[in-house]
Amino acid sequence: MKKQLAILGAGESGLGAAELALKKGYKVFVSDKGKIKEKYKSVLTELKIEWEEEQHSEERILSADEIVKSPGIPDTAPLIKKAHEIGIPVISEIEFAARFSKGHFTCITGSNGKTTTTMLIYHLYKKAGLDVGLAGNVGKSFAKQVAEGDHDYYVLELSSFQLDGMYHFKADIAILLNITPDHLDRYDYKMENYVASKMRILQNMDENGVFIYWANDEFIAAAMKAHQIKAKCYPFSDTEEIKEGACVDKNNNQLIITVNNQLFEMSIHDLALQGRHNLYNSMASGISGRVLDLRKELIRESLADFQNIEHRLEHVTNVHGIEFINDSKATNVNSTWYALESMDKPTVWIVGGVDKGNDYSMLFDLVKDKVKAIICLGTENQKIIDAFGDKVDQIVEAGTAREAVTKSYELGTKGDVVLLSPACASFDLFDNYEDRGHQFKTAVRSL
Ligand code: ADP
Repeated sequence: MKKQLAILGAGESGLGAAELALKKGYKVFVSDKGKIKEKYKSVLTELKIEWEEEQHSEERILSADEIVKSPGIPDTAPLIKKAHEIGIPVISEIEFAARFSKGHFTCITGSNGKTTTTMLIYHLYKKAGLDVGLAGNVGKSFAKQVAEGDHDYYVLELSSFQLDGMYHFKADIAILLNITPDHLDRYDYKMENYVASKMRILQNMDENGVFIYWANDEFIAAAMKAHQIKAKCYPFSDTEEIKEGACVDKNNNQLIITVNNQLFEMSIHDLALQGRHNLYNSMASGISGRVLDLRKELIRESLADFQNIEHRLEHVTNVHGIEFINDSKATNVNSTWYALESMDKPTVWIVGGVDKGNDYSMLFDLVKDKVKAIICLGTENQKIIDAFGDKVDQIVEAGTAREAVTKSYELGTKGDVVLLSPACASFDLFDNYEDRGHQFKTAVRSL
């Protein structure tokens, strides 16, 4: 009899999983609690896959042999709890697709920097002429790419939610950029649960695997003590010397990568991505390239000519000598810390949105040092006003991106920078962080 697969969530990954499962002989049922996009409905209908929307038919779903769940659905959802109780495996699209792929997997996780690093590594592998797919949180569905003929290599961006639904998956190169408190609402507000989820990137790896990580992250260091790591380790650091891995020679600002005793060097000034956080992302990417034995010159070129992605410390334009920067993707305090740290001009800082339990104290010194005025862009701004009111000359509120931009322009003078780096989610005033960034850029361009 055909194996039955229930797929929960009919987005990009759910549809890819459905297509692959069909190809592999499963009987597939797709269920979405919300409305399914028209374009996806027509694909499902065309493939003759049964589907439902705006409901979950519990009995039918719980009679499946296995469930593929979208990472957006929490483990605490009643249906998922029931599936766990009766012992139906609930897995992610990545876990499912990997069963049918012969590819080599470079996997990137961390609290911040995943997309940037994933795109940078993809750029590097592509330039090297590898047959490579981009998937996970970015790019096309992994399962769809496997269904359409597979690739030799994949660069996969993995969130903790995806990792939670992964059991037998084995990465070839695992990259853990950093761990800072985020999404704790999905982890019982326990940091150790979130850390454990991130460390799943290492599961099933043996001596042939490679683990690339930030040497100075306290959570990673503690977790590594508690885990037996079989993979070959390549740490990176900008403050200490690293024998095998990446570090910086402060005397001549050279980035140094050592893999199997072979040295790679390039000036940090030639890196396309500037700022300390991006140095880490470049280091991690460079190590993965050297591990695959890609030519040094090619790695140098790729790290130098990469085009940064939208909404991450993105230079928008200068208006009468005031520079505007869009860092809308900074949805937690840590990523904003790096944004503020990399500012070298007096800064008008636009911050606010949906607070995910932020502790702003780590920003105090930077704000005192670099920020001249604050614009709160959210529906609920009191926490920000209380935290920073006594640390800057001016603090005002704005209810739209346009108002925030106009006020920032009034408060700024020639030689200043206006930085949108909200440290918060965007859902109070915007559809998502992209919408927030686009509205910001539109307002700047119409000044
Ligand atoms: P993610 O995919 O993990 O959310 P992004 O690459 O989209 O990460 O970047 C998100 C935010 O974090 C941006 O504001 C960016 O400037 C900042 N950031 C990027 N890399 C790092 C890093 N290594 N450490 C801390 N912050 C970072």
